[in-house]
Amino acid sequence: VAKEGAAPPVPKPPKRTVKLTHPDRIYWPDAGITKEGLADYYAEVWRFIGPHIVGRPLALLRCPEGIDGEKFFQKHAWKGVNAAVRLVPDPKARNEPPFISIDSLDGLMALVQSATLEIHPWGSTLADWERPDRIIMDLDPGEGVSWAAVIEAAADVRARFEAAGLAAFVKTSGGKGLHVVAPLKPKADWPAAKAFTKAMAEAMAGDAPDRYVATIAKAKRGGKILIDYLRNQRGQTAVAAYSTRARPGAAVSMPLSWDELGPDIGPAHFTVANAPGHIAARGSDPWADLQAAAAPLEVPKAKRGRKS
Ligand code: ATP
Ligand code: MN
Ligand code: MN
Repeated sequence: VAKEGAAPPVPKPPKRTVKLTHPDRIYWPDAGITKEGLADYYAEVWRFIGPHIVGRPLALLRCPEGIDGEKFFQKHAWKGVNAAVRLVPDPKARNEPPFISIDSLDGLMALVQSATLEIHPWGSTLADWERPDRIIMDLDPGEGVSWAAVIEAAADVRARFEAAGLAAFVKTSGGKGLHVVAPLKPKADWPAAKAFTKAMAEAMAGDAPDRYVATIAKAKRGGKILIDYLRNQRGQTAVAAYSTRARPGAAVSMPLSWDELGPDIGPAHFTVANAPGHIAARGSDPWADLQAAAAPLEVPKAKRGRKS
């Protein structure tokens, strides 16, 4: 059993104690992926996804009838939730229903049993809810934006993170864009993380107004990329690395090395079907050093909550 908190889980050989009901239920009709196929995928990638979803509050996109049926974005625990799922009361809102978290492959299998087709963790851990250990820039291309431009935006975010003394890691969203993640030592609080990423998004939009916008309101963004920094707030989430997406094709959000990111790998290139093979073939995990690369976010106090 993995430890709670920030420590990465110890990979264990997949053992399944959570019973899957209706294993043949089709979740992705176009890709032919069943509930059991989803369970098999997560068992296969457990040692990679575990560090990103263990020991954090999780929001779930649940789709009991598969991707073509009703979808519930669920932030809190529900009645009858499987015993392998941990209920975690928000330390700042103890009267609210608890959040959910997992600490083992069994927990992940319980999420599969509950028809969880997307897993969206917080950017902070249960060990320190108030101080994020990662920030994320979500790059959302508008209509007509080329893939090359999205890759360029990711490189721009990387350069800006690195200029601030942070490491940068990239993944496909499994949807339309890219996510660039910077691991943090959990020192700065959520308002500081938001102020920092907001300032970065606004600087990008200021430097290249023809390419980027930083606010959803201004994002009539025909031909522009929304630099969505709003994941970086207390209680907000982004889809986990290696999580499946409840969209056609059974795409997954796939961590990449910066070298892998190129014209041949689009945002939904990797799927339940081809991701495990690619992970095995490339041999090394491009995100292996993510936690070790964590650095503190230095935010000048005067800039907090204000436009620089
Ligand atoms: P894409 O590449 O298509 O943009 P994405 O995962 O980045 O994929 P966004 O819409 O940009 O999608 O991300 C929004 C984020 O907001 C999601 O990753 C998720 O964590 C969160 N989210 C998604 N659906 C809901 C919802 N119904 N309610 C609240 N938050 C949501
Ligand atoms: Mn996005
Ligand atoms: Mn977004």
